[in-house]
Amino acid sequence: MLRIAIQAKGRLHDDTVELLKEIGIKLPSSKRTLVAKAKNFNVEVLFLRDDDIPQTVADGVADLGIVGLNEVEEKGFEVHRIMPLGFGGCRLSLALPAATDYPGPRWFNGRTIATSYPGILKGWMQAKGIEAKVHVISGSVEISPGIGLADAIFDIVSSGSTLVSNNLREVEVAMESEAWLISSGMLSKEKLALLDELLFRIRAVKSAEGKKYVLMNAPRHRVDDICAALPGIKSPTIMPLADEGWCSIHTVLEERRFWEIIGQLKACGAQGILVLPIEKMII
Ligand code: ATP
Ligand code: MG
Repeated sequence: MLRIAIQAKGRLHDDTVELLKEIGIKLPSSKRTLVAKAKNFNVEVLFLRDDDIPQTVADGVADLGIVGLNEVEEKGFEVHRIMPLGFGGCRLSLALPAATDYPGPRWFNGRTIATSYPGILKGWMQAKGIEAKVHVISGSVEISPGIGLADAIFDIVSSGSTLVSNNLREVEVAMESEAWLISSGMLSKEKLALLDELLFRIRAVKSAEGKKYVLMNAPRHRVDDICAALPGIKSPTIMPLADEGWCSIHTVLEERRFWEIIGQLKACGAQGILVLPIEKMII
């Protein structure tokens, strides 16, 4: 059996449970449990605070974990970083009062920086040759300059709106983060086989993300032009229609490219264009 540690509640919880569901790991719906056995896969899920996930995996108490890369870096425990999962995106940045002149990283020399991520901050300072005082607090970092606790902050930023509402300006990005699948370095052969199956399923779900199945009717004599406009996975499927002058073309498109391509398809005489969701894609 594989044991996966995930965040019990917080920003990563819902996307993590959704991903597990998409790869066929159904969990009991009760929110109060700390451990849950999947109904249909040889997996047990531990619900933890995100801070505790890297150590739990490093110690082998859990075989796998889903956690922000920032927590992995900060804690410094030895775990394998298997793959980024495409959610929980954020960055760790330095910010200072908005009106302050900022000539570059040397501004931080001799200043006090408040943060909940002293490990990552010290790594950044070392890389830049900065000597500053690090004041560690566990939350509400963004109010520190306003109350005179620090000159600047080092904190997680996603949209930047928290900084703006606290009259702060982001000046340096030290690290980009998102949720990662991590594993312990001590998996048995049997567990590695279960992990392989899990990775196969995650890749199938991730491959389908942002892609659409597109079908359309097209005049036969324009098929070559239409195929040239379509960046499909391989070549598109072309099927005859009852009307001999027409055929049906099926392909897979990146959704973000769709509007760019649709004009070209219409100009080539394509009609009845259907765009359908794709759940999973095994390449
Ligand atoms: P826990 O109770 O599990 O300790 P937490 O309060 O420490 O939770 P959350 O705020 O739920 O943590 O954030 C979890 C992770 O989500 C962060 O470590 C980070 O990787 C990611 N994240 C993405 N965007 C943000 C954001 N705007 N603020 C904070 N974390 C973010
Ligand atoms: Mg936490």
